[in-house]
Amino acid sequence: MSKLSDRINNLAESQTLAMAKKSRELQAQGKDIISLSIGEPDFDTPQFIKDAAKKAIDENFTRYTPVPGYLDLRKAISLKFKRDNNLNYNFDQIVVSTGAKQSIANVILSMINPGEEVIVPIPYWVSYIETIKLAEGIPVTIPTSIESNFKISPEQLKKAITPKTKMIVFSTPCNPSGSVYNKAELKALADVIVQYPDLYVISDEIYEYINFAGKHESIAQFDFIYDRVITVNGVSKGYAMTGWRIGYIGAPKWIADACEKMQGQFTSAPASISQMAAMEAVKAEPTVSFVMRDAFKKRRDLVLALMKEIPGMKTNLPDGAFYIFPDISYYFGKSYNNYHIKNSNDLSMFILEEGNVALVSGDAFGDDNCIRFSYATAEDKLIEAVKRMKEVLAKLK
Ligand code: PMP
Ligand code: GLU
Repeated sequence: MSKLSDRINNLAESQTLAMAKKSRELQAQGKDIISLSIGEPDFDTPQFIKDAAKKAIDENFTRYTPVPGYLDLRKAISLKFKRDNNLNYNFDQIVVSTGAKQSIANVILSMINPGEEVIVPIPYWVSYIETIKLAEGIPVTIPTSIESNFKISPEQLKKAITPKTKMIVFSTPCNPSGSVYNKAELKALADVIVQYPDLYVISDEIYEYINFAGKHESIAQFDFIYDRVITVNGVSKGYAMTGWRIGYIGAPKWIADACEKMQGQFTSAPASISQMAAMEAVKAEPTVSFVMRDAFKKRRDLVLALMKEIPGMKTNLPDGAFYIFPDISYYFGKSYNNYHIKNSNDLSMFILEEGNVALVSGDAFGDDNCIRFSYATAEDKLIEAVKRMKEVLAKLK
């Protein structure tokens, strides 16, 4: 008998976190690693948010909160949905969780039965597939490519739907491709979804504010599928608050109720202090966020320009988030000393060990031809990282 459960034995480790751990270990050994693995803003949390947290401690917001989060926070999120997305979610349709990661897990574990299919466009964020597997659901992927700007078409979606399909999960802006679906593209997908009354959508909008293409669009805006959409968002990316662990959903009330029940057994609620800090964040106009967005756009342009000088590195123009997802398959079949590059994992290990730059291999996101480069770091580091990559890749023959 295995000491651990089959559940955990079958679960893959989060590869973004694994790569971040590996770079921390190498840094601790004194290696000069530039870590572009984890997707996390390098900015500090804005001062007014930190002040709100300090005040919350002094005012003794230190006890258990309601399971779905403080009422005032859910009311503030309800106003945020109206202000930014023109979405009507009453406070009782909102559940605040320990990061958007838990929000997504709550929904999947609450809705997916063994054997039900969940459609996941490639490239996907690492945790979708593993959470679906944890629920004993079956992930059904849809391929995309640089040519389609890593977006799926309504025809592809329709083809992937079977009588067992329960849900589709996707992010816009997308981690890892940076692709942003515009209103017409979302409408075309909604027109397919509406034809299948038992099909639900998790729309992961955690990168909402990091959008260089224009206005962020939510798929829940289409009234005819509103009652089948779970809109996921949070403060990690937009407000540089990854460590505070606050995410949330807006959803039909019966789904919110189910997530509350799930959360009541797992975490009771997210941390009270973090909730009070997040309340100030969502109440404020997102202008603080737009300062960071503009910095990210400048970095994106810088890195794309530098990457053009690396042979065989094919990129799209990512319209949001803070990732570039170049196709690096040009290097497959090439070698240097004991390194023989067969896939994206071999290449990311080679770049880490020989070039001291940590990236995440594309297979973690379902596309083994690519590699993910997070540009959420200072410009001088980005310049140095691309220089190192160029030098080390030139060794492969
Ligand atoms: N969704 C996507 C697409 C992400 O990149 C992340 C990264 N952290 C999350 C959800 C989870 O965010 P958090 O748990 O920090 O709110
Ligand atoms: N979402 C970030 C990433 O993709 C943080 C790591 C994680 O939560 O997996 O790198």
